[in-house]
Amino acid sequence: MPEFKGYIHDVGGPTANFRYGSCDKQKTDGICARRKCLAPTPCKNIKVSHSEYIQLLDELKSLPGVKKVFIRSGIRFDYLMLDDDDTFFRRLVKDHVSGQLKVAPEHCSSNVLRCMGKPDISVYEGFKKKYFELCKKYGKEQYLVPYLMSSHPGSALDDAVQLAVYLKKSGYAPEQVQDFYPTPGTVSTTMFYTGIDPLSGKKVYVPSTYEEKKLQRALLQYNRPEHRATVIQALKKAGREDLIGFGKDCLVRPMNTKGYEKKPSDKQRSSDKINGYGRKNSSVKKTAGPRKKKHK
Ligand code: SF4
Repeated sequence: MPEFKGYIHDVGGPTANFRYGSCDKQKTDGICARRKCLAPTPCKNIKVSHSEYIQLLDELKSLPGVKKVFIRSGIRFDYLMLDDDDTFFRRLVKDHVSGQLKVAPEHCSSNVLRCMGKPDISVYEGFKKKYFELCKKYGKEQYLVPYLMSSHPGSALDDAVQLAVYLKKSGYAPEQVQDFYPTPGTVSTTMFYTGIDPLSGKKVYVPSTYEEKKLQRALLQYNRPEHRATVIQALKKAGREDLIGFGKDCLVRPMNTKGYEKKPSDKQRSSDKINGYGRKNSSVKKTAGPRKKKHK
């Protein structure tokens, strides 16, 4: 293949590092019907190892003409964090990330994460911390791109506001967000159509109207001027007018009667607590990670 330049761009894919059965019992009895292997807390029977994945990456790297082997997405960070041996984590950061790694915390609200079968957001935070520590250790300027989803079953407007506040505190502004769509054969789709969590039998809130989906989606990109009116509408509906204003914790500035952003008064402008959103040197980043160095 003359066009092959020696770069294998993605040995990832869904659950890239969680490649085999979860435990010995699964080999004979199949997967448990009433609980998940990794969430809300890891099952005590789960077996965690990355040795086979490391071997696969080594074999690929040793093929004639291969210079680099990258993993772009699909790492189950919760599975990775369970591994007492951090060899794979170090190898991942040192050798297999091409600038940025996409991972999927998907939300931060415990209500929503429970419905998604995802662990508490603290697990993602632990992963993020170690990822950037290793980047620093190996002198790599690399980023994390978190996938986020709006309007998953279990997500009320309050949960979407919670996610917007989390993003604001993290200083992260997603370029893309995904709105939940039911797909065949998933637990989430069962919740969407029945309003019941099939694992617990409990009722689940399902945002399904166009109007509510629009509000939840806009909150995830609260910093975009085109979403300002919708974000204000969502915050008012959620009873969170405290997040509309000029303070540093506010998500959005108020609008005047003509639909334009209101300007802060001189007194507000001189306050160091003013919301940086809208300024040239906004504190909001588009990737989760350290700022890029300025090149002269
Ligand atoms: S939930 Fe536990 S016992 Fe059941 S398949 Fe997963 S790891 Fe095995």
